[in-house]
This record gives sequence, C-alpha cells and structure tokens, in this order.
Amino acid sequence: MQGVIDRLVRAPDGAIEIHDYKTSARAPSQRQLDADRQLALYQIGVTRNGAADRDTEVRLVWHYLLPDRVRSSTRSAQQIEALRRDTVAAIDRIEAAQAFEARPGPLCSWCEYRERCPASPHWNGEAEPAVRTGDATTPAAQLGLFR
Ligand code: SF4
Repeated sequence: MQGVIDRLVRAPDGAIEIHDYKTSARAPSQRQLDADRQLALYQIGVTRNGAADRDTEVRLVWHYLLPDRVRSSTRSAQQIEALRRDTVAAIDRIEAAQAFEARPGPLCSWCEYRERCPASPHWNGEAEPAVRTGDATTPAAQLGLFR
C-alpha cells in the first residue's frame, strides 16, 4: 500500500501530527473522524517508517477549508492493531475474489472510466466487448484493461 500525507509535523510537545486538507463543504462529525481509516492508515505507515515509535503520541488532524474548521483525533494501539488486521483481511478478500461487480454511485463522477463503464450514469453509450478472464468477466476486463 502507498499513501501520500499532505503534511507531517513534529509538534512542540514531541507528538507527531498527520495533517490532511479537505475541500468538502461540510466537516464530518467527531464520531465519523474517530472511525476514519485514511489517516489511521497513514499512522501505521509513519510508525513503520520509523518517523514515530510506539511511545510517540500521534495526532490525526483534518483541515476543512471551506467551513474553515480544524478537527483532530487519536487512535489507541488496540485500534491501530484492529485496523491493521481488518485491512489485511480486506486485501485477502480482494485478492481471492474472482468477480468484481460494478458498484455505481457518487464516486462515478470522479472515476476515469466513467464514460466507458456501462454501469456509470456518465456512460457514453458505446458498447465495450467483454473479455473473459478465467471463469470471471470482470469490469476491468469489460473496460479493456486486459487487452
Ligand atoms: S464508473 Fe464504473 S468502474 Fe467507475 S466507479 Fe462507477 S461503476 Fe465503478
């Protein structure tokens, strides 16, 4: 896995702060941020890269630019371990999967395949020939990624 941290700060009290800048018009609730995976995964990376050891306090900080709000959260060692386990299990499920159903939704607007994906509301109407990969016909195959 790779991630790009917007800003990494050594705070005056010695803590490491992982800062992320968001342009969404609304800041999520504290409860949502306390369950957010993105910056917690960054925390795993920062710890693994040696920027922070297990005893260093790590703060997760979000800057919501439009409402001009700053929010922060922390994770316990148990929460980080649970996230690590859940993420590894999710990767195992993805790697074992044989079929990948299209799941159209709001993210289609940002998807680079939106005009070529028949499941997308932005589909340009051109039929893409399905390419079979083993027993599964995958959206990636339908999009021509295996040609
Ligand atoms: S356009 Fe198709 S491939 Fe892209 S997110 Fe939407 S459903 Fe998935």
